[in-house]
Amino acid sequence: AEALPRKNAHGIELTDSLAVAPLMEALENQRGKHFLGGPIIDGVMGNAEEPVYNPATGEVIGHTANTDKHLIEQAYTSATEAQIGWDRLGGSQRADILDRVADFYEKKASELATIICLEAGRTLNDGISEVREAVDFCRYYANAARQYFSDPTELPGPTGEQNQLYLGGCGVFVAISPWNFPLAIFTGQVVAALAAGNAVLAKPAEQTPIIAAHAVRMMLDAGVPAKVLHLITGSGAAVGKLLIEDPRLGGVAFTGSTETARLINQQLAAKEGPIVPLIAETGGQNVMIVDSTALPEQVVDDVIQSAFLSAGQRCSALRILCVQDVIADNLLTMLKGACEELTLGDPGKLETDIGPVIDAKAQGMLEAHRERMSREAKPLFTFDEDKVPDKGTFFGPQVVEIEDFSILKREVFGPFLHVIRFKAEELDEVIRRINATGYGLTFGLHSRIEGRAQAVFKRVNAGNCYVNRDMVGAVVGVNPFGGRGLSGTGPKAGGPRYLFRFGSEKTKTINT
Ligand code: GLU
Repeated sequence: AEALPRKNAHGIELTDSLAVAPLMEALENQRGKHFLGGPIIDGVMGNAEEPVYNPATGEVIGHTANTDKHLIEQAYTSATEAQIGWDRLGGSQRADILDRVADFYEKKASELATIICLEAGRTLNDGISEVREAVDFCRYYANAARQYFSDPTELPGPTGEQNQLYLGGCGVFVAISPWNFPLAIFTGQVVAALAAGNAVLAKPAEQTPIIAAHAVRMMLDAGVPAKVLHLITGSGAAVGKLLIEDPRLGGVAFTGSTETARLINQQLAAKEGPIVPLIAETGGQNVMIVDSTALPEQVVDDVIQSAFLSAGQRCSALRILCVQDVIADNLLTMLKGACEELTLGDPGKLETDIGPVIDAKAQGMLEAHRERMSREAKPLFTFDEDKVPDKGTFFGPQVVEIEDFSILKREVFGPFLHVIRFKAEELDEVIRRINATGYGLTFGLHSRIEGRAQAVFKRVNAGNCYVNRDMVGAVVGVNPFGGRGLSGTGPKAGGPRYLFRFGSEKTKTINT
């Protein structure tokens, strides 16, 4: 079947007070509510006794549970049975259901954005962008299902032989998603797996089960059969292993840390049953290079956006800024000025730039890093501690200057920027060092030298390269997203080939 005309969703214009009113109303309505965050097995919400916290206040906003072994068993049994019918339904019919999910999300955009804000501490602005991205994933993968998972591809053959290639699901897919995009990435994985004809056991991050439970409810209301999609809540330690080791597993989509991806890979290698695909999107050690020809005002804007907004809690976020020495003093003075303007606080207020980090563990890791950097690096900007809220898990943005990449052993997931100065003749060496980190997610270049962008693009080993702009906020169908090496396996989310990795091929040859 043909793809349908599709446009990316438009969000809410936050400078328009009329457009913002329903959003603020939704936020007020949700505050003080008690939410249930799954599990949801066969369409039924299970008991929930584990508290879920609002990271901006420390308050309990609802409950969830570690899904027990018995329920996971039940989910596998239902999903395995129901997957066959879901697969047979064909790409076009599944796509119609997934388009309806997008419609439902759009109708409830304000409610979803505010739950993201309350549960994950994301700013309303981020919440709105996330709903848009989730909507885009639904419609984009729905279209891919129409195009590639409906009718078989006719193939040539000798006279008297008919050949066709079919695409269908792999079986039961486990989708393990992170808390930093608790709706968009959750939805992207689940919808891709469903679109390709799989049943899904969706395991959201333990910090953000509530928005996931809302998403699953809406998917079921839109027509995804209750036996095809189940929400498995709990910590990785409590439920991850049970999900992975089941011999009925058909594939895994995972977004999270490189360490966890490795662990899953090891468990997959050791388990019984078929050999199944692992689609992993992991961390980064993302660098931006700024040479002497860059426009300083634009660089400062893009650095703030890339390193500090979303509290730096994006895999794509800028971690290391490499500035050519001749412009460094000037640029860093401007950057410091811009950092002083940043507001930290209630993510439900429109004027807030940076909300909390996700939990006390994340905050503790950032504090430990700040402590180490106070000995090993030169401070360039430290957020005023008096402006950091007492309640909630906040961490003020930091900028330090380091001598070399080797100080940073692993990704520091938060609003922490490291600066390195380089001389014009060292550009090649900088690129060599970027590649030597082994990560390869995002990369930024600010330069007005034609030809440099091309040359650097060819050499740098990163999945998403951005020139003369910020390096976050990849758009579905526009900037297919995902890394290489330690940053992930591909294929790219929101890209034309994503769905194929969730599918399984079958060739039919008939002697006519
Ligand atoms: N796709 C997001 C971006 O481009 C990042 C996703 C992530 O953090 O995992 O900023």
